[in-house]
Amino acid sequence: MNILDQFKLTGKKAFITGGARGIGKSIAMAFAQAGADVAIVDLDLDVAQQTAKELAQFSVNTLAVKTDVTKPDDVNAMMTTILNAFGSVDIVFNNAGICINVNAEEMTYEQWRKVIDINLNGVFLVAQAAGKAMIKQQRGSIINTASMSGHIVNEPQPQCAYNASKAAVIMLTKSLAAEWAPHHVRVNSLSPGYIGTEMTLKATQWIPLWEKRTPMGRMGKPDELQGIVLYLASDVSSYTTGSDFVVDGGFTCW
Ligand code: NAD
Repeated sequence: MNILDQFKLTGKKAFITGGARGIGKSIAMAFAQAGADVAIVDLDLDVAQQTAKELAQFSVNTLAVKTDVTKPDDVNAMMTTILNAFGSVDIVFNNAGICINVNAEEMTYEQWRKVIDINLNGVFLVAQAAGKAMIKQQRGSIINTASMSGHIVNEPQPQCAYNASKAAVIMLTKSLAAEWAPHHVRVNSLSPGYIGTEMTLKATQWIPLWEKRTPMGRMGKPDELQGIVLYLASDVSSYTTGSDFVVDGGFTCW
């Protein structure tokens, strides 16, 4: 098959957690442009519905599902809703996440648990629910959003729980990839550097420092992650599993 055709997702079924806005929304646009039916899964149903409407311009089926990825019942209900609507699931961009910037010695246990619950436990619950369906189908690609913070310690902002959660996502990815490879289910992770979204753009005091500290001298845009995720979602990456892909403008070189 022509190499460019291998990037196409025509007829594939995808869902994206944290898909209402930011990086998740950009990846949703890429999947829909490539021909996949896309479900937007998010805590924020209103914005998820708006995003799903925007995807309709690509003439694919879309769906918005309100889900808290930290709640097993929510995640299982979300999976049932998507399977009922689409019939199968080929691609998951497992991406919902938050960051809390507090010094380690002042962080409350609730703050620590909230970050780990969404960024790690939520990623596991969603991967497990999708993995069960994909094992039955004997095919699928899961892409977990980790971070360069799973490789390095950011500065100047303190975020020990976030960094620990993202390092764990990278290792969870490898573990699932090894377990599920015999079932033809691939699992990889994406580790972005600083990307301009609601998560980062509000930290106006730190942006100049982050840019100076980045060899390319700027933050990335969500759309600059579309290519690598499309690669991981599509058949082009058929021999790629258990890998982490850093896209950070060179940040982790220094
Ligand atoms: P964002 O805040 O713009 O979007 C996050 C989305 O996740 C929101 O739509 C939010 O409603 C949703 N969400 C939050 N908690 C949820 C929950 N419990 N259940 C379901 N949905 C929930 O952030 P973003 O920058 O687009 O980040 C997306 C992912 O990328 C996160 O995992 C983040 O850690 C990671 N990341 C971001 C950057 C960056 O610089 N922006 C860098 C590295 C990694």
